[in-house]
Amino acid sequence: MDIRILPLDPVKTKPVPTGDPGFGNLFSNRMFTERYTPDRGWHDATIGPYEPFVLDPSTAVFHYAQEIFEGTKAYRRPDGDINLFRPLDNARRFNASAERMAMPPVDEQDHVEAISRLVELEHEWVPDPPGALYIRPAMIATDPALGVHSSQTYLHFIIVGPAGAYFRTGFTPVAVYISDRYRRAVKGGVGGAKTGGNYAASLAVGGEAAARGYAQVLWLDGIEGRYVEEVGAMNICFVREGRRIVTPALTGTILDGITRRSVLALGRALGYDVSEEALDVDAVLADIDAGRITEAFGCGTAAVIAPVNRLGFRGRDHQVGDGGVGPVSQRLYDELTGLQYGRQPDPFGWTTRIAVPKTAASRA
Ligand SMILES: *Cc1c(COP(=O)(O)O)cnc(C)c1O
Repeated sequence: MDIRILPLDPVKTKPVPTGDPGFGNLFSNRMFTERYTPDRGWHDATIGPYEPFVLDPSTAVFHYAQEIFEGTKAYRRPDGDINLFRPLDNARRFNASAERMAMPPVDEQDHVEAISRLVELEHEWVPDPPGALYIRPAMIATDPALGVHSSQTYLHFIIVGPAGAYFRTGFTPVAVYISDRYRRAVKGGVGGAKTGGNYAASLAVGGEAAARGYAQVLWLDGIEGRYVEEVGAMNICFVREGRRIVTPALTGTILDGITRRSVLALGRALGYDVSEEALDVDAVLADIDAGRITEAFGCGTAAVIAPVNRLGFRGRDHQVGDGGVGPVSQRLYDELTGLQYGRQPDPFGWTTRIAVPKTAASRA
């Protein structure tokens, strides 16, 4: 792919921030964009200044939410180079989401190349551990018309910004609220696609959970309200008797998380039993109360592993284990982050290394 690289205006160029960047409020100086039209396909691939889009108020995405996104990270290695984590898997999932939302696929290699070039140019924005550079690819429908049909034209863009440690106060467990009233997704719907509408639909109950002191919402299946699905922006796993990692099977209603896949493969390699099953919420809570389920954790790019110490359902709280971080959660977190940051070898071939000019690497 030919990517046009536009110069930055030195007057408008922001310095790399110092201190904890938090998450999602700071973006680097550049972004990638390309446009789609039926006659030309994807074209005008450009890395240029990070700046606002000018879009007509009638633009399709504003009205009918034809939109998809991805989330992945770039990690600073001990030698100063940078690791991407399973970028091609993200690109494939981007296209799976595109297909479900009736949007044109991108070239997966080109998508990864766009990320690599952007990260290379913005390498100074990759924080040292435990931070990382968050990478947000997205695609939106851009037809300036209100007809309800899939758009003819699209914009594919990638922005990046530094993210601090997910756990500000160390690796600490979170409480999870199981909603008995709202549902996130149904079979045949769009729960398996990474599309903004799924998040819009989850915000009301997120507020309800927060008001009651829970950090995350665990969703149950949309038909019977009985099977455990996933947690907000993370998949969910449980540990049985300290040695069996179980997670809900993919049924089309939950997202096929790359962290979830990595946990299953890594767990197997570390000698745990792993399985994907239908998990009945009452059985899960009974097993937690009886101590047969010894750990619970969410898994997703943002937190990698988020230990869960408490689940609230129908007005009752169920404490998992002793309420602390369990050994399996800790081990998976250490191993997976060790591999992502290049602190330990990657026998799975999950990391893609981006070399940084050595003068810049010596900055740290
Ligand atoms: C992104 C996301 C996840 C986690 O996927 P990862 O690839 O592990 O980051 C899980 N559930 C939902 C709904 C998501 O949007």
